[in-house]
Amino acid sequence: MEEIINKIAQDKMDFNIGLELLLDKNSFDEIFETLQIYILNSIPNKTDYNSETYQRAINTIPLKPTYTPIVILKSFSTKIAFNKLASLPKNENKKVIVSLLWIFKITDTERRNTECKNGCGHFWHELD
Ligand SMILES: [Zn+2]
Repeated sequence: MEEIINKIAQDKMDFNIGLELLLDKNSFDEIFETLQIYILNSIPNKTDYNSETYQRAINTIPLKPTYTPIVILKSFSTKIAFNKLASLPKNENKKVIVSLLWIFKITDTERRNTECKNGCGHFWHELD
């Protein structure tokens, strides 16, 4: 699962193909937990998580902005939003995973282009 998530983030795997693979092989809880940790670690400025990159990520999620997970992400701070996403009904599961996978793709790409640019110790940035 970690490899698939990072390949999607690094554009080495198509977003939708990777999404289906993830949903096929892992439970919602497993994917959710992993993406939550990945996102929190990849967002710059850990004091409030409300960085420009994070805002850009939630504003470009490829889903209708009226969908519940998107409304939650835009209305609450990161950690509170994640808690609310975790307790949504099951029919929202796929939308939640699309949202988190997209956010990680954006925040991780930003990190790779900035703090990781001159080499980093993140083994998952050495995929191939
Ligand atoms: Zn890195």
